[in-house]
Amino acid sequence: MQMKSTRGGLAVSPSMAILRGLAPDGGLYVPAQFPSFTGEEIAALVPMTYQQRAAFVLSRFLPDFTAEELENAIAGAYGTGFDCEAVAPMVKVGARAHSLELWHGPTLAFKDMALQLLPYLLTMSGKKHGETREVFILVATSGDTGKAALEGFLDVPGTRCCVFYPNGGVSQAQRLQMVTTGGSNTHVIAVNGNFDDAQTGVKRIFSDPAFAAEIDRQGRVLSSANSINFGRLVPQIVYYFSAYADLLKAGEIAMGDEVNFCVPTGNFGDILAADYAKKAGLPVGRLICASNDNNVLADFIETGVYDIRSRAFFKTISPSMDILISSNLERLLFDLAGEDGAKVASLMEQLKAEKKYQITDAMLKSLQARYAAGYVSEAGIREEIARTWKEDGYLMDTHTAVASAVLRDYQEKTGDKRASVIVSTASPYKFGASVLEAIAGSDACEGKDDFACCALLSELTGTSVPPQIADLPDMPVRHSAVCEKDAMDGAVLDAVR
Ligand SMILES: *Cc1c(COP(=O)(O)O)cnc(C)c1O
Repeated sequence: MQMKSTRGGLAVSPSMAILRGLAPDGGLYVPAQFPSFTGEEIAALVPMTYQQRAAFVLSRFLPDFTAEELENAIAGAYGTGFDCEAVAPMVKVGARAHSLELWHGPTLAFKDMALQLLPYLLTMSGKKHGETREVFILVATSGDTGKAALEGFLDVPGTRCCVFYPNGGVSQAQRLQMVTTGGSNTHVIAVNGNFDDAQTGVKRIFSDPAFAAEIDRQGRVLSSANSINFGRLVPQIVYYFSAYADLLKAGEIAMGDEVNFCVPTGNFGDILAADYAKKAGLPVGRLICASNDNNVLADFIETGVYDIRSRAFFKTISPSMDILISSNLERLLFDLAGEDGAKVASLMEQLKAEKKYQITDAMLKSLQARYAAGYVSEAGIREEIARTWKEDGYLMDTHTAVASAVLRDYQEKTGDKRASVIVSTASPYKFGASVLEAIAGSDACEGKDDFACCALLSELTGTSVPPQIADLPDMPVRHSAVCEKDAMDGAVLDAVR
């Protein structure tokens, strides 16, 4: 299987696509042809462990990696860092849905599913293409991605990872998660500015030839762990196959039955992986794209118009979905446009120049045949958490609640009776204060920090606070660097000196 660019450029191997991240023509890499899994092959996943399922699925998407390479990587990625053997367990939520829990990894959110494997894929890809320099990952984070990247690259030979976060712009728990990271190849720097300043600073470093030359002199090469890298997308395809196999195993469906997935969506990576699983033969019904108040995607799927001109940006209680430009959408557009790279390039040009584009009627028809969409207000998120806890005894975080509420609406509106999966992207304790407020009211949170909120949530629900949160206040702070927003390049060089 080869990879090609959404802007029409030359095809390359998967390992080259992972090493490069972005294609030279500015496009994103997509499979030039999809592998095709038969019903028998999917049924064969049922008795397998998650690791075996991953090896089977990945071998078909990444044919230029050997079975041994993939098995080693998978063993390293999905091992002791996860708190349950199933890695991505399925839990029944009443009679209406199943929850695919993607937050049993080291940082309690779904980004671990990809970022635990990516460092292996990157370093192996480097070796295949004669790259001997240390791969140096720079990340700007608004909270969750930074810790997931740090944990993924932690002590992986041949890699180094530096994370910038906005000083005062992340939660107390998020900051502590990052600054207590151990390892000899991790760096964390607070930037005096907001997330956009940090992001702009990282982009500036990436496009600075003098910086690249200095880093090269040190025997290093810059790279990104951004969600546009195919190496972040491909590990996510696995858990859709795994979810299907678990539904078969539990007798909830028969082989060939279609399953709907409702996904809390930000950058469109998670839900696109489900689409790719479908293209590879998994019997997927409807893909339901769930948004919070930042509902540009829900509007797009309904109308075919992507418009960010007069849209306010809301800071919500599901912050990992607070996004206006979903970069992975370009991969879907490529597919909807019949793989016409020039068409995609022109839509992306319009988005840049006019902050708006409209797809053709034919593209919209094809979009709506596969996708449905909806969004939930802040009050709706809290209600959904409280209701699901009360009616189904299932405790969910604010992002998962967005998907749960949108699925509920979808089922009521359409009467669609196919088995449905809520993709659960974070532990309720990762957003403990908001979850506590939903269940016990805002008075319960009054005067409490994140940790006190988690303790009370645990007491009220009889669930336990994960050690990744509970242990944080007692862990030594290892990273205390702070820099100005226009001095990030110097701060990186100081950190690695
Ligand atoms: C990143 C994230 C999302 C959004 O996923 P995308 O792939 O960007 O659409 C949803 N929930 C949580 C908890 C996340 O961290």
